[in-house]
Amino acid sequence: MLNLLFLGPPGAGKGTVAQAVSEKYGLVQLSTGDLVRAEIKSGSELGKELAEVINAGNLVEDKQISKMFEQKMKSLLEHENFNGVILDGFPRTIPQTAMLEEILKKLNQKLTAVIYIKTDDENLIRRLSSRYTCSKCKKVYNSITLPSKVEGICDLDGAPLIQRDDDKPEVIKKRLVEYRDKTAPLIEHYEKKRLLKSYDGNVPPKESIELAEKLIDEILE
Ligand code: AMP
Repeated sequence: MLNLLFLGPPGAGKGTVAQAVSEKYGLVQLSTGDLVRAEIKSGSELGKELAEVINAGNLVEDKQISKMFEQKMKSLLEHENFNGVILDGFPRTIPQTAMLEEILKKLNQKLTAVIYIKTDDENLIRRLSSRYTCSKCKKVYNSITLPSKVEGICDLDGAPLIQRDDDKPEVIKKRLVEYRDKTAPLIEHYEKKRLLKSYDGNVPPKESIELAEKLIDEILE
């Protein structure tokens, strides 16, 4: 079992790299942001509450998000050929690190390593404001660094590409503040636990994926 956590500011490329790496190593990409967006799309009462929170650039409550994570992780473990997960977007606060540890322990799992994608601020805003996602399969594109073959259309299933509501400039700034205040302390936390591996993510997507794969190969050695 290989359970990895990708850490880095919004726009560092966590989703793109996690997507590529999960295919290569047969892992499941578990993005709590995707879980939140699926709940919003379902139109449930909880979804309506969550939409307000995330469209203001705020973080969802620790307890609420860890419950969503636990449910998903449990259902994944029921699959026979499950090899492990790439956690993308959870944990995002120090209290969530303890919640993750507790959930994994309960499920007889362990975090293998944490991969930190270091990225400069100017790259983040540029990347986030040019990010598009497939409305159907959720594949992520970028009109500057990773364009689709036909503008506005997903290469994989032909569905239209959409921009996330929280990728608007005012919301991006708030998300970066949330990251600095609440998520950046996780770097030191996992460094102390000797789980942290990092690389310079100020590179094009293809190179970032290769750097991540190199680290994972080292972890597997
Ligand atoms: P992401 O796609 O990871 O950028 O997540 C989108 C939004 O979902 C975030 O800006 C948060 O509002 C919310 N979210 C996702 N994961 C978490 C988490 N672990 N803790 C709190 N909020 C989260």
